[in-house]
Amino acid sequence: MTAMTSKYRFGPLGALAIAALLAGCTEPGITGGNIFAPRAPKLNTRAAAAQLGLTVMHTSRTSATLRGGYDSVMMYSDPAGEVYVNGRSMPDSGGIQVGDGTLMVPEPLIRRIRAALKSAPGAAAPSGTETVKPRQPVTPKPLGRIGRVVLDPGHGGKDPGATSRLGYYEKDLVLGVAKMVAAELTARGVEVIMTRTDDRFIELEDRPAVAARTGADLFVSIHADAAKNRSARGFTMYVQRSPSRESLALANAILRRMSENCSPPNRGVKNANFRVLVCSRTPAVLVELGFLSNRAEAARLGTAAYQRTVARAVALGIYDALR
Ligand SMILES: [Zn+2]
Repeated sequence: MTAMTSKYRFGPLGALAIAALLAGCTEPGITGGNIFAPRAPKLNTRAAAAQLGLTVMHTSRTSATLRGGYDSVMMYSDPAGEVYVNGRSMPDSGGIQVGDGTLMVPEPLIRRIRAALKSAPGAAAPSGTETVKPRQPVTPKPLGRIGRVVLDPGHGGKDPGATSRLGYYEKDLVLGVAKMVAAELTARGVEVIMTRTDDRFIELEDRPAVAARTGADLFVSIHADAAKNRSARGFTMYVQRSPSRESLALANAILRRMSENCSPPNRGVKNANFRVLVCSRTPAVLVELGFLSNRAEAARLGTAAYQRTVARAVALGIYDALR
């Protein structure tokens, strides 16, 4: 199985990548935001949050989480450049760049995000904009009270993982799905930390280490399967050979939600000593979303609609386990 063997690859860039990822998690001071694009002025993460009336919960070189009132916003830098408002992907949301160790967000995009918020207490209208109706201030829900989860999109960078029958790579699929899971969980008040938010290689040991270092409650690695037998299909949960009770409960919770919402068959919970599982001191599950070696399943997993369905099911399972 190509997916299995590629889980065991190593390389010199992982430590650097994770160091960069963690080093980027400190919040930088406010600086001017107009140096990157002469056309659309850009604001840094803190300034953008202030415009939106939200609080910066997490910021790094490649992603940021903002929350306040009933709203959550997750932003990722280009080239993917996705923005999620309350768990929903915002179309045509490109233009977010990296500068000064934080995201730089175009003002027109900030206005669009603001229009999609349910509440934005005390937000000031961005300069030179349309009129914005006043919103009712509400008490922010505390983030992280429900729990802290590390999501680990498998593979990345030089390690593409499995190649689907339609030509796309596992590393790209699982990154997109993980971002959707993160958005769904954040919208429910769960704090999410991702081992990667872009196409980079990370050493296997360094992935669960993020969960240990951040005191996370759960660690979920997201993958897609491949097999020589091209009729093989379905989703599978993996736990290590001597799993903790919490790991098993997490696997069963995700499996239950996927059984209710995703395309069968349900292949159940299996045991395997994958490195990311045995290295984890945090309750850990590796989710195989489906088989990229199966043409029908690869086609289904290639659609944004089914990715959303799968992501929502995984998020609900994690949420169930936390509660
Ligand atoms: Zn994989």
